[in-house]
Amino acid sequence: MIVRKSADEIDTMARAGRVVAETLALMGETIRPGISTRELDDLAEELIRSRGGVPTFKGYRGFPASICASPNDMVVHGIPGGYRVREGDLLTVDVGVTLEGFVADSAYTFAVGEVGEEAERLLAVCQAALAAGIAEARDGNHVGDISAAVQRVTEEAGFSVIRSLVGHGVGRSMHEEPQVPNYGRPGRGPKLATGMTIAIEPMITAGGEEVAVADDDWSISTVDGSLSAHFEHTVAVRENGPRILTEAPVRSLVP
Ligand code: MG
Ligand code: MG
Repeated sequence: MIVRKSADEIDTMARAGRVVAETLALMGETIRPGISTRELDDLAEELIRSRGGVPTFKGYRGFPASICASPNDMVVHGIPGGYRVREGDLLTVDVGVTLEGFVADSAYTFAVGEVGEEAERLLAVCQAALAAGIAEARDGNHVGDISAAVQRVTEEAGFSVIRSLVGHGVGRSMHEEPQVPNYGRPGRGPKLATGMTIAIEPMITAGGEEVAVADDDWSISTVDGSLSAHFEHTVAVRENGPRILTEAPVRSLVP
């Protein structure tokens, strides 16, 4: 069942989204060579709680931290810890905040200093894929329109979408129906209607699409070691088009 939200509920989700965006902005200002992902997690949790929010990920199915921090070939669900950020890294930070009973979810891949031409192109393409997917989040469209747009932008650039990881409905719970795959065909899948709120999140790689879970039972990396990128927004479908609920200026470390 797809739960549609009232205009008031969507405004509440936007308040949660604002805290998510603030947290990602803080990460962008703070990430630098030498900082550990545990330090980033501590700063994120402090900010989220100072705004009256709860870090949604903490304790979710036993996840031990407030953010996911996934460097380089790690795609998602990296557990913050002793890893120290290095010059040239790509670091994906994923943040979920629960506020007044509603969840917002967003991710951003940061470039740490000089990352090289291919990595910069990967980031630009992933952001373009997200934008193309969001543009299809319109009343009367189908989930497949979002999926196809993300896939087209990614594959036209010569990159791969990861098929085993998907976007999702979001609201009172972090994961609701429908699933929002990053590949598919226009006109297929559930119909989108005003009041639906979904997390659109292209996860793409510079190599193959295969991924595997590590021994920590959480972190997921590319099998071929290729770089990955992941950008995500929580979006509401409104009468007059998509409304991004997690948008705020995020200072990228890409020059
Ligand atoms: Mg997320
Ligand atoms: Mg998500």
